[in-house]
Amino acid sequence: MTVSRRGFIKLLGAGTACLGLSRLGLNVKPAQAYATSMKTAGAKEVVSICPYCSCGCNIIMYVKNGQFISSEGDPDYPVSEGSLCAKGAAFRALHVNEHRIVKPLYRAPGATDWVEKDWSFMLSTIARRMKDTRDRDFTAKNDKGQVVNRLDTVFHLGSALMDNEECAVTVQMLRGMGVYQIDHQARV
Ligand code: SF4
Repeated sequence: MTVSRRGFIKLLGAGTACLGLSRLGLNVKPAQAYATSMKTAGAKEVVSICPYCSCGCNIIMYVKNGQFISSEGDPDYPVSEGSLCAKGAAFRALHVNEHRIVKPLYRAPGATDWVEKDWSFMLSTIARRMKDTRDRDFTAKNDKGQVVNRLDTVFHLGSALMDNEECAVTVQMLRGMGVYQIDHQARV
């Protein structure tokens, strides 16, 4: 019988493998007792894929009573074999976090305080400023007459919370406007 690493752990919890291991003289009762007391006991397992880099590590999400209660790496995923980097390990905290800001905050030029604004205000303000800046500063050709199509006065800093698809679309948009100063703080 072929049993995957994850399947083996499940069998251990179910007791089937325990029988075999006990016959080998191993006492698995403490492990069984520990497994049944874990907060993930009885939770539904949903395998998802970490969206934060091209490694695409599997993440097992545990759902209980409709709540996302825990997550961990998937031992059967061949690339990382259950390991996750800091971002993948913090996967649940990205979704369930009382410190997460869920409304746009705006600090006007020269102001010291942040104030709540709606998305319509934020998006139209950003679009207006980007358009005005590009109209003012876009360089089509350099001093030698070479085509450069660049915007020197805009820098874009990405986010560790942007997934692969968001990053791809954002970079395409920025390049289309001539922005070439692009970085991302997701150093792992
Ligand atoms: S960000 Fe980390 S956990 Fe997520 S896919 Fe990449 S290496 Fe894996």
